Amino acid sequence: MSSAWAAALDQLDEAAAFIKLDPNLHEVFRTPKRILTVSIPVRMDDSRVEVFTGYRVHHSLARGPAKGGIRYHPEVSLDEVKALAMWMTWKCAVVGIPYGGAKGGVRVEPRRLSLGELERMTRRYASEILPFIGPERDVPAPDMNTDERIMAWIMDTYSMNQGYSVPGVVTGKPVSVGGSQGRGGATSRGVMFCALSALRQLGMSIDGTRVAIQGFGKVGGFAAQLFHDAGFQVVAVSDIKGGVYNARGLNPTALMRYKDGADTVAGFPAADAISNEELLELDCDLLVPAAMEDQITERNADRVRARLIVEGANGPTSPAADHILAERGIVVVPDILANSGGVTVSYFEWVQDIQAYFWSEDQVNVRLKEVMDGTYEQVRSLAEERGVRLRLAALAIGIGRVAEAHVVRGLFP
Ligand code: NAD
Repeated sequence: MSSAWAAALDQLDEAAAFIKLDPNLHEVFRTPKRILTVSIPVRMDDSRVEVFTGYRVHHSLARGPAKGGIRYHPEVSLDEVKALAMWMTWKCAVVGIPYGGAKGGVRVEPRRLSLGELERMTRRYASEILPFIGPERDVPAPDMNTDERIMAWIMDTYSMNQGYSVPGVVTGKPVSVGGSQGRGGATSRGVMFCALSALRQLGMSIDGTRVAIQGFGKVGGFAAQLFHDAGFQVVAVSDIKGGVYNARGLNPTALMRYKDGADTVAGFPAADAISNEELLELDCDLLVPAAMEDQITERNADRVRARLIVEGANGPTSPAADHILAERGIVVVPDILANSGGVTVSYFEWVQDIQAYFWSEDQVNVRLKEVMDGTYEQVRSLAEERGVRLRLAALAIGIGRVAEAHVVRGLFP
């Protein structure tokens, strides 16, 4: 069993006990509703055929169409996709948007593919999962190593099969084909709104708050910019190739420019080199994991020095580490709350596509802030009232809402 799936089940079990979940529903929730495994044969540029493996998992459809990203990564496994799909169910429920949870993944190192190979692989994967997806069924979005160009190919593949354009089949697509203003930065913006709420809760001020960010991709890269612009001091960032640290602060615009050329932040001038392990244990105030699952574990949790962790990534903290951090008084804003800005604006995008009526970026950002601040407050007040971690409170609210949907719908047949 992968550590992500074990972690997802562990979290469900803890929350089920906390909310005294009906054991029958608990059993239903431990199993994804549907799993599709597909082979993806792709004609490579040298005319060989390579066969990749892909997945699409629907964890729950109880509250609406399934929703969740598609990940391209050499270590994608069915267990990992199952975990990510389950977290999507709780995330959509806690933030109060009418979706179930899904996730997809292809086991591939996308950097190894030419642009043409990437497009052929994406279109064949989309064709293979076609019966699973659609605006009323399941609406994919970007995740690790996928972006708006890939979403446009999926939207086009689906539309070609329908015979007309169906923008609402994916979110996170380019604005020119029905994407939403503000979607690109929405996850990072949500991370920042959560960090600001947590700072208020802890009586900390922005001034002098030192931030370390693991992962400098769509979520971590833009989060660095937003934190910097808001007055935080971004002291360290990293990606898969390594990290950089400067106690006096890094300039995210210069970092982004450097990364565009070097394809990594490692080696950025005017900063010291650090490893990903060192970044997690750095002397800082706020730690934002925005890369992979299972980064803060029982092996390093007692060496984390940040006072606050806001999880941009899904599943970066193992259940054992979560308890160690809590015992040490380190506050963790959990993934299903902290990174829910992305799926929230994906929901806005889907609503705009269905209505064919588009909002300004200001409207998107204002509504996102309302949702994030409102959700944070609900989670914080339950956590305070019951004396539990923010993660347990968020899971309790999310799982409770999915349970309620099951109860009112009843069990078919
Ligand atoms: P991305 O592919 O754009 O960026 C990932 C970053 O993490 C890159 O900088 C990469 O080099 C780095 N990375 C990968 N493996 C690493 C490792 N082992 N150690 C250190 N760094 C590593 O992906 P993204 O969309 O920014 O997603 C990052 C995380 O945020 C994932 O956990 C994803 O599920 C989660 N997330 C993303 C969104 C979204 O809207 N994109 C929404 C919610 C949650």
